[in-house]
Amino acid sequence: MFTKLKKFYYTKILGRKYYRVGNCKGCGRCCRQIYVKHAKGVIQNEEDFEKLKHQHRFYTYLKVMGKDEIGLIFECQNLDSETHLCKIHKTRPGICRRYPQEEIFTMGGVLSQDCGYSLVPIETFEEVFAKVEKNSKKKTIWDKLFNRESK
Ligand code: SF4
Ligand code: SF4
Repeated sequence: MFTKLKKFYYTKILGRKYYRVGNCKGCGRCCRQIYVKHAKGVIQNEEDFEKLKHQHRFYTYLKVMGKDEIGLIFECQNLDSETHLCKIHKTRPGICRRYPQEEIFTMGGVLSQDCGYSLVPIETFEEVFAKVEKNSKKKTIWDKLFNRESK
C-alpha cells in the first residue's frame, strides 16, 4: 500500500520518472563540474550567467572553470579542496540538498561513476510496455466507434 502511494505521489503529483536511491559518499565531484540551466537552456556564456546571480544565492557561489559541448562548466567555491566537503553544509541551498535530480539527464549530464546515489526508473519496462499497449487498444476502440482509420 505504501509503495503504491509513494509511486502515485512521485509520478502523478511530482511528475517524476526516477527514484533517488543511495547516499552521498562526500567525494565532492558534483560540486566541481556543474552545468547551469535557465529558461533558454544550459548557460553558454558569462553574460547570461551574470544575470542569474541576482536570482539565487546558489549562483553567487559558482566560478567558471571551462566550457564543453554542453555549456559552461562551473565549480562551487564552497567546496573545501582538501576535505572535498561542503564548507556550508548545514546551510547549503535546496538545489544541493535535492541533488541528484533527474533533470541532469535533460541537460545531457550524467551521475559521476563513483556517486553514492543512483536514479532508478519508478516504472519497470514491463509496466511502461503494458501502458503503451493499453493506450493503443483504447485508441483502436475509439477509432472503430467513430469510424476513423486506425493508425
Ligand atoms: S554549496 Fe556545498 S553542496 Fe552546494 S555545490 Fe557548493 S560545495 Fe556543493
Ligand atoms: S558525486 Fe555523489 S557521492 Fe560525490 S559528493 Fe556528489 S552526491 Fe555525494
